[in-house]
Amino acid sequence: MCGIVGYVGKQNAVTIILEGLKRLEYRGYDSAGVCVQKGRKLDLLKKAGRVENLAKAAAQHRFTATTGIGHTRWATHGGVTDANAHPHVSSDGKFALIHNGVIENYAQIKAFLAGRGYTFKSETDTEVLCNLIAYHYAKEPVRAKSRQTRFVESVRKTLRHVEGTYGIAVLCVDFPGQIVGSRKASPLILGVGEHEYILASDASALVSRTQNVVYLKDGEIVHLTPESFSISTLDQADVSPVVDKIHWSVTAADMGKYAHFMEKEIFEQPAALENAMRGRFAADGSTAQFGGLNITPGEFRDLERFMFCACGTAWHACLVTEHLIERFARIPVEVDYASEFRYRNSPLDPRTLFFVMSQSGETIDTLAALREAKRKGYRVMAVNNVVGSSIAREADGGIYQHVGPEVGVASTKAFTSQLLIGAMIALYVARMRDMSFSDGVTYVNALKGVPELVRQALQQAPKIKAIARRYAQYHDMLFLGRLSLFPLALEGALKLKEISYIHAEGYPAAEMKHGPIALVSEKCPSVFFAPQGEIFNKIVSSMQEIKARKGPIIAITTEGAELPKGVADDVIHIPACHEAVLPIVAAIPVQLLSYYIAVERGCDVDKPRNLAKSVTVE
Ligand code: GLU
Repeated sequence: MCGIVGYVGKQNAVTIILEGLKRLEYRGYDSAGVCVQKGRKLDLLKKAGRVENLAKAAAQHRFTATTGIGHTRWATHGGVTDANAHPHVSSDGKFALIHNGVIENYAQIKAFLAGRGYTFKSETDTEVLCNLIAYHYAKEPVRAKSRQTRFVESVRKTLRHVEGTYGIAVLCVDFPGQIVGSRKASPLILGVGEHEYILASDASALVSRTQNVVYLKDGEIVHLTPESFSISTLDQADVSPVVDKIHWSVTAADMGKYAHFMEKEIFEQPAALENAMRGRFAADGSTAQFGGLNITPGEFRDLERFMFCACGTAWHACLVTEHLIERFARIPVEVDYASEFRYRNSPLDPRTLFFVMSQSGETIDTLAALREAKRKGYRVMAVNNVVGSSIAREADGGIYQHVGPEVGVASTKAFTSQLLIGAMIALYVARMRDMSFSDGVTYVNALKGVPELVRQALQQAPKIKAIARRYAQYHDMLFLGRLSLFPLALEGALKLKEISYIHAEGYPAAEMKHGPIALVSEKCPSVFFAPQGEIFNKIVSSMQEIKARKGPIIAITTEGAELPKGVADDVIHIPACHEAVLPIVAAIPVQLLSYYIAVERGCDVDKPRNLAKSVTVE
């Protein structure tokens, strides 16, 4: 994960780097550091802890340089210490480097370099990179012709020996005002500003300075100088850069009047969901349409199976999508964890269409699943929020979520927009199979009503806050739901675990009696999804079984449903709605419940411990 920022320009580099790191901090917050060049030396400052810590120390330090690199870390190799913080400096003092990713063959490289006199100050895999660059640099013959390219060539040689993943930015004392960067399976974007360049892990770190960006591809090396930049490949081929435009501004990534990004992102869901469906209904009002699938309706109709791969919250969105596609379109769907799929070698039907879902579009396991499916000759569609992400670029087609930047580590608006898009895919396929025109119109109208339904569900916030206060001190909780709300039970439990550190489990409500019921007591509350519907009475029976064992119950039910008296201790109502949109509406109370419980417990909601938002390491 981790955040990278590099700056070459005319302004104070550290000021700009720190601003960028603050915006990237959701990617990792174990430690932070910066490095600039001061005369013929590197000036390094790094600290365990948050970017704020580093910013305080930097204010004392009074940096003035106009070129520098900075990093916020999510530790993979080596504990959370000052020494393990990035940037790392080569033992000859010539190179400083920041890295996002994992160097898998670092132990061999380290042994090789140690045998040649290079020394190491940290336990990280990263530190071998700057020493290997220094090694190649020292070996490179200094001819007049090659002098200018010696820096970039040393980085190129180094990367050819590296196994694993990386996004890097490197400084060299012999090349003031220059940065060399490269990536492989970790994101890296170049912002092209007015007389300045910013290299960053994602656009939020540079959008306040420029909206012109170059999305670097795997295996590309970028060389920044104060006057220009050039891109080449690891094989030394020149690359003509394509400059893209970002279509959102920095205010979209600010917190506004809210206490946390998570709160802001929960409350902006009506508008976000409106954006996610804009322009995506056919003119006759009976089905969905997507611009970027790059697959003809006929090809789509002839598919016999769908396979969805994702991680975490997006995997839950895939499970809901599976339910809706099978229910409405009657096509078999399989859902797999991307991290399992990539190594599982599962047998696949040739007429399968692949979908991967990832908010960031950089989730490394999901990217690997996409590549594995493509390698096997399958077409892969991506559902993804960040425009221009690695997954978006490598997929054969896809659907953008269009909900703007999501900064809170616990996903909220990205999740509900994935549910919305999943419901639209189900509609699209269903209308090619046996869903009638009038059922299609009903379905479309239900989707169009989602922003208003979510707005109504959000009105329960004060009530949910009061409930959260009563449940904040428990240590264990169960989340139980059935059919399309079983994945919501998983998501509710995940959300609570992530941000409040309360142990929680999601289960299909009727499965609870096959094990988890052993946990039930007055000390273990259950959150039940109990909407009106065919199996309402069955769900109520499960609730009775919990109540009989003194388990406190919070019921989330639809307006108009009649729960027997005394079966629930607390009841949260959501509006009654179409089956296809119910999971979206039902997500709102569990988001609010976990949010308010975490706030009540004094947790750092936007930066939960040990987590980072976009998981770019395996
Ligand atoms: N593997 C490196 C480390 O542990 C970089 C991790 C990251 O991507 O933040 O320091």
